[in-house]
Amino acid sequence: MHDIVIVGAGPAGLTAAIYALRFNKSVLIIEKGTFGGQITYSPKVENYPGFKEMSGNEFADLLVDQVISLGGEIELDTVTSVEPGRVSCESGNIYEAKAIIIAAGSKHRQLGLANENELVGNGVSYCAVCDGAFCKGQDVAVIGGGNTALQEAVLLSDICKSVTIVQNLPALTGEKRLSEQLDKKDNVRIICSSIVTELVGNGKLDAVKIKNTESGSEDVLDVDAVFVAIGQVPENKAFESVCTLDNYGYITADESCVTGTKGIFVAGDCRTKAVRQITTATGDGAIAAVNACRYIDAL
Ligand SMILES: Cc1cc2nc3c(=O)[nH]c(=O)nc-3n(C[C@H](O)[C@H](O)[C@H](O)COP(=O)(O)OP(=O)(O)OC[C@H]3O[C@@H](n4cnc5c(N)ncnc54)[C@H](O)[C@@H]3O)c2cc1C
Repeated sequence: MHDIVIVGAGPAGLTAAIYALRFNKSVLIIEKGTFGGQITYSPKVENYPGFKEMSGNEFADLLVDQVISLGGEIELDTVTSVEPGRVSCESGNIYEAKAIIIAAGSKHRQLGLANENELVGNGVSYCAVCDGAFCKGQDVAVIGGGNTALQEAVLLSDICKSVTIVQNLPALTGEKRLSEQLDKKDNVRIICSSIVTELVGNGKLDAVKIKNTESGSEDVLDVDAVFVAIGQVPENKAFESVCTLDNYGYITADESCVTGTKGIFVAGDCRTKAVRQITTATGDGAIAAVNACRYIDAL
């Protein structure tokens, strides 16, 4: 039995592990994908205090190293269900723990178009850091107008022939500094108040059809790839029997990171909260770990 099992090795889960290990608790983290979580998709992080600039991968490596050097264990597996004291995984492994911290984060939102899944890897991507290099010299579109979309557009504009940003709202919503950076690029075009209605292509993306939501006019963009950056959705299905989810699927808990179920805590982007960033995820990780340790000490 471990003192604490943590679901997810993103910034929240890894920070929770660092705090719990420093309280002399035994800790196992179970991660189904990438050690470091979503931030590994970010080419440049410039808003984490103490680090002027770093890549998401650099940050993730530092956190993982710190956890391992403190004696934390990390397993690659997918957690399929959680109940007080027990975590079950896809591999068939079941882990017992005095306390469980759910730090499962969120994943990219899809456009929801008919052939979207079929075209993933063949012109449809959700990560410019991962796939941008395959689009060297090509015409691409970025769907979305928030910070992630703008960061991806900046990155792609240095590699691709042209980048067209398609935003459903009348204006971009990302940081002004990023829009100003894009304004200076002559290979970047911004189309607002428009939605993607069709991904054109059979086995490989050839173009996207867009529709202006104000005028109703339609257009076709001949692009080799689209990068979809329209937000995130939580991955909390496996936990709905032990945690209350809000209307958007986030686990309901306040700043204490305590859920309604004894011995189960929640941290990071998968929790109800107003700001989803690495600062808030690491803050949650610390709080969830401290409260989980106090819970264990009182058993
Ligand atoms: C492209 C991009 C750029 C960003 N840039 C910035 C930035 O510049 N600054 C900033 O502050 N924030 C940025 N963010 C947001 C930041 O990455 C997140 O707020 C932060 O990663 C949340 O941390 P987390 O640990 O809560 O969740 P996540 O990072 O999502 O980690 C959760 C982990 O849990 C794992 N997991 C999920 N379900 C299971 C399961 N059932 N079993 C096992 N493992 C599971 C996932 O695989 C994942 O690794 C960016 C996000 C993206 C996508």
